[in-house]
Amino acid sequence: MYGNYKYHVNIKVDNGLFFDSTCNCSSYNKTKKCEHIASLLYYYNENIADLERNSLADVINKIDIEELKKGVVKILINDSEIYDKFRVEFSKYFPKLNKSEYYSKVYSIISKFENDDGYIEYENSIDFNSDMQ
Ligand SMILES: [Zn+2]
Repeated sequence: MYGNYKYHVNIKVDNGLFFDSTCNCSSYNKTKKCEHIASLLYYYNENIADLERNSLADVINKIDIEELKKGVVKILINDSEIYDKFRVEFSKYFPKLNKSEYYSKVYSIISKFENDDGYIEYENSIDFNSDMQ
């Protein structure tokens, strides 16, 4: 991008996934967002991301399949966010609950959290929601 000043912009990317950024402009200083980072990310996506994704595929092809499986399990156990993405991506391989199993699972979560009046207290709602997922 073109402008009158030079800024020092950093984006951190690992295996094609963006995870951190810095810039020394005043906008970033105030809001942690700026057009310099946006344009660097745009440039990265247009020009570099494919290269990194391709080299990731090369690395995966080199890994022995058993070693790869063990590594995937290790990563999934340690990171619930990645586990959730994995579950969505490979949902057809996960066992499906039938209707009555599903009902009893939902019912057991409700009975774990409901009070004597059959309501779920506000302070338990976050745990309740995470169990429901
Ligand atoms: Zn900036």
